[in-house]
Amino acid sequence: IMVSINQRLEADVIELVASEFNYEVEFIGVEDAAELEDEDTEDDTENLKPRAPIVTIMGHVDHGKTSLLDYIRNTNVIAGEAGGITQHIGAYEVTLKDGRSITFLDTPGHEAFTEMRMRGANVTDIVILVVAGDDGLMPQTIEAINHTKAAGVPMIVAITKSDKPEFNPQKIRERLLEHEILVEAMSGEVQDVEVSAKTGAGLDELIEKILLQAELLELKANPDRAAEATVIEAKLDKGKGPLATVLITRGTLKVGDILVVGTHSGRVRAMLDDKGRQIKAAPPALPVEVLGLGGVPMAGDTLTVVESEARAREVAAFRQERATAKRTTSAPTSLENMFSALSAKQAVIEYPIVIRADVQGSTEAIINALNKLSNDEIKVRVLQSGVGAITESDVGLAQASGAPIVGFNVRPNAKAREMIERQKVRLKYFDVIYHLTDDIAKEMAGIWGPERIEHVVGRAEVKEVFPAGKKDKAAGLLVVEGYLKKGINARLTRNDVIVSKTSVASLRRFKDDVAEVRAGLECGVVLEATNDIKPGDVLETFEVEMRDRTL
Ligand code: GDP
Repeated sequence: IMVSINQRLEADVIELVASEFNYEVEFIGVEDAAELEDEDTEDDTENLKPRAPIVTIMGHVDHGKTSLLDYIRNTNVIAGEAGGITQHIGAYEVTLKDGRSITFLDTPGHEAFTEMRMRGANVTDIVILVVAGDDGLMPQTIEAINHTKAAGVPMIVAITKSDKPEFNPQKIRERLLEHEILVEAMSGEVQDVEVSAKTGAGLDELIEKILLQAELLELKANPDRAAEATVIEAKLDKGKGPLATVLITRGTLKVGDILVVGTHSGRVRAMLDDKGRQIKAAPPALPVEVLGLGGVPMAGDTLTVVESEARAREVAAFRQERATAKRTTSAPTSLENMFSALSAKQAVIEYPIVIRADVQGSTEAIINALNKLSNDEIKVRVLQSGVGAITESDVGLAQASGAPIVGFNVRPNAKAREMIERQKVRLKYFDVIYHLTDDIAKEMAGIWGPERIEHVVGRAEVKEVFPAGKKDKAAGLLVVEGYLKKGINARLTRNDVIVSKTSVASLRRFKDDVAEVRAGLECGVVLEATNDIKPGDVLETFEVEMRDRTL
């Protein structure tokens, strides 16, 4: 057997070789060897120290989420921090005058919030539901309520824009009741507060309520151990390479630490906080941007510090293998499934697409939104998706499958651009997700073709049948409903079974050709391309409408 140094051997070959050298082989599961041990062991209570609460602000667009967060950040800038350039890293730490701090997650879309949760990353401790007091409960407010409830995270209601004359918090509180949220002001349990991001009114109270809620939750973590963290955002930076913003869940992450994150290994080269400052060590609940990863991880991935580089590479390689295996083995589970998969294959139209976006979160949001466009007859098939510039591999793949490439806030690199021009691959740029989905939905509807809708317009009973010309048969009918027209589509049924699908070739009343015959009248009919017609048959006429479809 010729094998290279990196190639795996079959178990029996290993046994054979080992026995030549008088060794015995004991096999253990791959998982046991390669995956990190389940580190879910609880930390001892005496090692636990209080940590900052992690807060997500959710609510309807334009209800004031950003303004609220900005105001809180700007008024809590402590000495020495002023003038620091704020960095967008997906999360902020706000240090209060008394030294305590709160971590705010940069309001992700509600779907991103739930996506992370689905991957087991429940990073949020408290949700602030922002509702504009001059507006009402809007669709995204209700979405936010549902997502929060599903996550089982406590909620604080912030009724904003209290400075406006139309401000009517009572109305909001009453509407919240319909969603089973009984706020404090109405003797309920959910904390609520009236705030203004313009005047700052009520914001101290909001902070107090966050801290109070945090105290009730007894948020604690052990800072004195190897760090674990959750990725909240990741991207590929031109100069710095793969970057990930992580929230430390326990332990302290230090520069130089060797780590595994998702399917990648790496070593912390540097860490930056949300003010763009280099930091050497990150304690629990602190959001930091980590440099030095081997690749771009996904939001929701866990970062784990391990003892050696070899170990990190081993775990990463194992996870990569497992991820590939998962992608390639979508075997049908039963014979029945296999048949339906087979027949489905012929019936379903696939719309192939290649997606590139600037951040992982966008890629996922796009794929999710596109999957929602799919139905039983037409499906989006994402051939490839990723973070960063559009590459030659994307173009090759798109070319081979006749797929468009979608660039979300990214452009092709030089080589890819050249290839695109040469190969005439379609390229679409977007910077708003719903523009993207609108466009793709239109295109898919076009490929799907218009929908054929049949409207039944008439019914007639066959009374007698007689020869017409040399071989044709004509029938005498009584129109019982609607109308018959010359040339109209028709179905002939006998005992409710369709005998033929045809059309009215000729239509007469007495000896005259007519264009139309209405209910209650008798007429003579010759059907197109069929002579199988008998007394008692029913002729049903229908108009066909071709309607453009929407997705
Ligand atoms: P977001 O989409 O939820 O992040 O909402 P923004 O923070 O962007 O706010 C939407 C609009 O409402 C902006 O024009 C803000 O200036 C305005 N706004 C936000 N909060 C307040 C407030 O407390 N009072 C007043 N008068 N306007 C506000």
